[in-house]
Amino acid sequence: MKQRGVTVWFTGLSGAGKTTITTAVAKFLREQGYSLEVLDGDLVRENLTKGLGFSKEDRDENIRRIGFVANLLTRHGVIVLVSAISPYREIREEVRGKIGDFVEVFVNAPLAVCEGRDVKGLYKRARAGEIKSFTGIDDPYEPPLNPEIECRTDLEELSESVNKVLSKLQELGYIAEHSPVSV
Ligand code: ADP
Repeated sequence: MKQRGVTVWFTGLSGAGKTTITTAVAKFLREQGYSLEVLDGDLVRENLTKGLGFSKEDRDENIRRIGFVANLLTRHGVIVLVSAISPYREIREEVRGKIGDFVEVFVNAPLAVCEGRDVKGLYKRARAGEIKSFTGIDDPYEPPLNPEIECRTDLEELSESVNKVLSKLQELGYIAEHSPVSV
């Protein structure tokens, strides 16, 4: 059976858990033999969208370009995992509309938790004023109103978050039935 393409879009604050969940989901799906691509926000900003900043215009352009590539891949039957803060609702909805086969995952933990984790030390630098326009500190984050999936990473284990994503993809017919995954 030919694989159906889909874009799985992980949105949330820095440190919410997007990369961690994406990596685990990608590992499982690759092991199952699915054709898969990961578009990670940090990596994309080093090449595809190099030179763009963090104004609303530039953030929207960043997401538009990621969406463009994700759409091409999705049309060719690839499962695309996008991990990007993508703070603005309207552009996420625009990309959803263009791609169609689009599953939004709201990776959600309170700001205080993300800041407490401070995986990359960025919150500390933002609080010190060394980084301006940092999402959650001095730049907005607009949570999805109707995401297909919400992962509360402050309340659930990584395995639970991963299984939520996989179950939804199964329910929507993008992947075959499988047993729960433990990571
Ligand atoms: P982001 O990519 O959103 O900036 P990261 O994935 O880099 O975030 O960091 C998230 C941190 O939260 C990691 O240190 C991870 O181990 C931790 N964490 C705790 N619980 C979860 C969970 N349920 N899902 C994902 N990450 C979790």
